[in-house]
Amino acid sequence: MILTDTHTHLYSEEFSADRDAMMQRAFDAGVTRLFVPSIDSEYTQQMYDLEAQYPDNVFLMMGLHPTYVKENYLEELAHVEAQLAKHKFYAVGEIGVDLYWDKTRLAEQQQAFKHQIQLAKKYRLPINIHCRDAFNETFEVLEDEKGTDLFGIFHCFTGDFEQAQKALSYNMKLGIGGVATFKNGKINQFLNQIPLEHIVLETDAPYLSPVPHRGKRNESAYIPLVAQKLSEIYGLPIEQIAAITTQNSKDIYGI
Ligand SMILES: [Zn+2]
Repeated sequence: MILTDTHTHLYSEEFSADRDAMMQRAFDAGVTRLFVPSIDSEYTQQMYDLEAQYPDNVFLMMGLHPTYVKENYLEELAHVEAQLAKHKFYAVGEIGVDLYWDKTRLAEQQQAFKHQIQLAKKYRLPINIHCRDAFNETFEVLEDEKGTDLFGIFHCFTGDFEQAQKALSYNMKLGIGGVATFKNGKINQFLNQIPLEHIVLETDAPYLSPVPHRGKRNESAYIPLVAQKLSEIYGLPIEQIAAITTQNSKDIYGI
């Protein structure tokens, strides 16, 4: 059984003490395909180092996270652009709009999002979307940029059925993680109405641990817990969930 974590922050400081052991636990759990989103330029070298250490398992994305759109964001975007020009990446991400922490930079966040979507199109790459408390503001940009050259993953999807339908209409797959295992999660109410062809698995490690690790550090080795939950929701064996969601990740990331 091959499982894919389509969104994991392997370079996080949270893993400084036991990163190699954490990676081994993921491999032992069958999670051998790990896709790593970028946040800002501070972590780029660590991402390259991880890729060099695990060339068959670690696949990188490049992008500026909306929460890191600050005064220097044009410099950060130039960094993203320079990396894309010189290194192979599998997506532009994570990019999008986040109004949970700070609403004052909406215009800059949307501009950075749009610019990075255009970079993804230039390199024929998918995007990995981060959207928090900002569905309308995210959809606004996607509406402007929609087309056959726009595709990707709506990471950590937390919307309702209507928002899920809308995300799919922009060629996005839904990234499902630990939140799906929480009691009374609204995702679980309608997920079985979304064909499995539109779903990929993710942890967003070190955040959003699935039950029974909720509240503690998350890691890619917990992907089987998410797959198990989907197995219950869809009424399919976990092997089939693994096979279909891994195939979906290949369709998006091209590897
Ligand atoms: Zn993330």
